[in-house]
Amino acid sequence: MHTEIGAVIPKSLDELSHDEIRRKTLISKIMTRTLNYLTNELVEQDFEWLLPVVFSKMTDPLWPDPGASIEKRIEVEIYGETVRTTASMIIHKMFASSLAFPKLFILSPNVRIEKRERQGTGRHAYEFTQLDFELRNGSSKQVFRLVEGLICGLVKNLRRTSKEELSELGTFPELRVPKSPFKVHDAEKLKEKNGSDWETKLAAVIDEPVWVTNIPREFYDFQDFEKDSWDNYDLFVPKYGEILSGAKREFEYEKISKKIERDGVKRESYALLLKLAMEGRLKPSAGGGIGVERLVRWLVGAKHIAEVSPFPKVPGLVHEL
Ligand code: AMP
Ligand code: MG
Repeated sequence: MHTEIGAVIPKSLDELSHDEIRRKTLISKIMTRTLNYLTNELVEQDFEWLLPVVFSKMTDPLWPDPGASIEKRIEVEIYGETVRTTASMIIHKMFASSLAFPKLFILSPNVRIEKRERQGTGRHAYEFTQLDFELRNGSSKQVFRLVEGLICGLVKNLRRTSKEELSELGTFPELRVPKSPFKVHDAEKLKEKNGSDWETKLAAVIDEPVWVTNIPREFYDFQDFEKDSWDNYDLFVPKYGEILSGAKREFEYEKISKKIERDGVKRESYALLLKLAMEGRLKPSAGGGIGVERLVRWLVGAKHIAEVSPFPKVPGLVHEL
C-alpha cells in the first residue's frame, strides 16, 4: 500500500522481508544511540529523569492547536473515576517543575488517535514518544541553546559512532552538524508570505534546522496580550518539518483562567491547575517536547514515521501488536 508521499505504509514486524528487517535493525541502532546520547546529556546537565504516566484526569487538551486533528479521545473509567490516556505530559510537567524538580525530563508515550486521513502524511502515528523537558524559571533563549547543543552534539556523535549504519541508510553524506545558533522565523510572517501551507514550504527550503516562534495555540503557552505575540516555538528540520514544540509557560491565575474561557476548554478538567496558580504555587517555566520518532525519521531518512517504530501505529490501521 502506497501513500500520498510515495512511502509504503509500514508493515508489522512479522510481515517484513529479510531486507526490510535489516533496515529495521539499522534504524533501531540509530534510535538506541539517539536515546542514549540525549538522556546521558540531560542527566549530565543535572536534569531529573522522571517516569511517565498513562492514565490521568488531566492531560493536554490539544486545543486550540492548528496542527492537531484528533478523531477520538480515549477516556476510561477506573475506580469510579474518568481518566484519559496521556496526550502529552505538559500539565504534569508544570506541576512537577513548580513543586519539586527544577530541571526535569520524561520519555513519555503519547496517545493521539489522529484522523485516519493522516495515514499517508508520513509524519503522524497514533502512538508516539516525546522526550519532554522543562526548566523552572527558564526562558525561550535558554531552551534554544539547550536544544541546539543537544541536536548538534547528537549529529556529531552519530557521525562518529554510526558512519556504517547511516551510510547504508543513505543519510551520512547530507547529515551535517548544523551551525548554531539556529535561525529564528516568526510564524505570522511566514503565514503572510507563504499562506496556510507555510510549514511544508519552510521544510522544503531549509537546509539546516530552524526555529519558528509566535504560534497561536493552547492556553499554557505564554501569550503577551499587549504585544499580541506568543513566546513559544517549534523546531523544524530540512525536508521533514516540525520535530519539537515548546514554550515559555503561563503561570498566572488570571491569564490561565481567561484563556481557558476564551478557548472553550472545560474549566473543570483543569481545576487543580487553576487552584495551584491561584495559590501562587505554579511557577514560571519553559520547556519543550521532542517527538522521538520524528527526530529519528530525519536522522535515518525514513519516508514514513512508522518505519522507525518496531510496532507501527499508523493512523487508521490497527495491527495485532
Ligand atoms: P506537540 O506539542 O503537539 O507539537 O507535540 C510535540 C512533538 O511531538 C511534535 O513536535 C512532534 O515532534 C511530535 N508529534 C506530535 N504529534 C505526533 C504524531 N501524531 N506522531 C508522531 N509524532 C508526533
Ligand atoms: Mg507542535
